[in-house]
This record gives sequence, C-alpha cells and structure tokens, in this order.
Amino acid sequence: MLEELKQQVVTYALTADRSGLCKHRSGNFSVRDEETGLVCITPTGMDREELTYHDIIVMDMDAKVVEAETGHRPTSESLMHLMAYKARSDVHAVAHTHSKFATSFSILKKPIPAIVYEIANLGCKEGYIPVAAYGRPGTPALAESIVEPLSISDVALMESHGVIAVDADLKEALLKASYVEELAEVYYRTLTVLGGKEPHALENAELQKWAYPKEIQLLPGETK
Ligand SMILES: [Zn+2]
Repeated sequence: MLEELKQQVVTYALTADRSGLCKHRSGNFSVRDEETGLVCITPTGMDREELTYHDIIVMDMDAKVVEAETGHRPTSESLMHLMAYKARSDVHAVAHTHSKFATSFSILKKPIPAIVYEIANLGCKEGYIPVAAYGRPGTPALAESIVEPLSISDVALMESHGVIAVDADLKEALLKASYVEELAEVYYRTLTVLGGKEPHALENAELQKWAYPKEIQLLPGETK
C-alpha cells in the first residue's frame, strides 16, 4: 500500500545521504498519507543505498506497524515523527538529520539567530532556530521535546543529537534541513572570525516582512 509515498521516502532519504546531511545509518524520514493518516517511514539499521520502497514501513499514529513488506522494523525514532504529526496538523513530512554544524550547535544548546535572511523560509516565528531539550533517542521524552520548538518553527536543533525539519512535503522538509546546516555553518564561520562574539542578527520584524517584489511584472494568469 501507499507505494507512491514509500518511493518518495526512499528518494529523499537517499538524497539526504548523498548530500552529506546524514551519513552511515543516521537520520530518518517519513511522510503521512493525507487520506488514511498512515505514516510511511524509513527502517532501522539499513544502508540507504540498498533501500527500495519495499523496505519502507507503514505505521499508524499509535505506533502500530501496519505493513512491513521486507520484515524490517521502523526507525527507533518513530515516536518523534508521530509526535510531529500529532502536534502539527499541517505537517505531512518529517526529515531528521545529524548534520555536523547544526549538531555542533545543538550540543552547545545554542539557538541559531537570523544571521542571513534565508531563515525567513524556515517558519521561524520568533526569528531564530530553537533548540529542543535533550531526550534519550527513541524515548517518549525525545518525542515530547520537539513539541514546543515546532510550535514556533518548522525546524529545530535537538540537544546533543541533530536536526528536525517539517513541511507539508518531504522534498521541502529536506530542503529546510539543508538550510539549517548551511546557516549553522555560516554562523560557525562568523563566530570564528569574531573570536566568539555574536555576529549581527536581523530583527524578527524585518524577517516577517518578506514579500515577492511587486515591481516584477508577471504574465497574466496562474503563476507558481
Ligand atoms: Zn537521530
């Protein structure tokens, strides 16, 4: 069941791996089917290069496996994915990575400020990327820890762990996770140049003002 969604999960899990956002067997990905509410999620302990859509597990919101075609178990971080869907009805995709620069700041419990305007695309209502409090991987405490940060942002660092990014679409969720890593690296570099002094950050009010330029004269009719 849900072959198309399973294929999406495979595609973007592999993209994340190849782009270096999560190496080895770290990181996990899921999508929620709008109609049934079932979640297609990556298996635990499997190399992503060997992954096919048959390996993607289908589970319900009570963490009950509904389908596991090749007999794999879902990621041990499944509860966190399910919690993201419970907390945000607008969310239909979750990307979780252990990318290096972002994870470094998660260890420091350091939110990432709006050092560049890109952060405006990450749903950060408060104008920064928040840090979720520590929870041991796989536990309900970890799942609970992401609820608060996801109420003010589509992305969050997870203390001493990694990154979570959510969206209506998995391609976009992964893109957000990529931006988090890019911002973290730029933040790291500016902090280094400044000898640890905080770089200038944009005001939240400034970030919330973004709009497509009205000076550009578009073709009539529907535009993307
Ligand atoms: Zn993880």
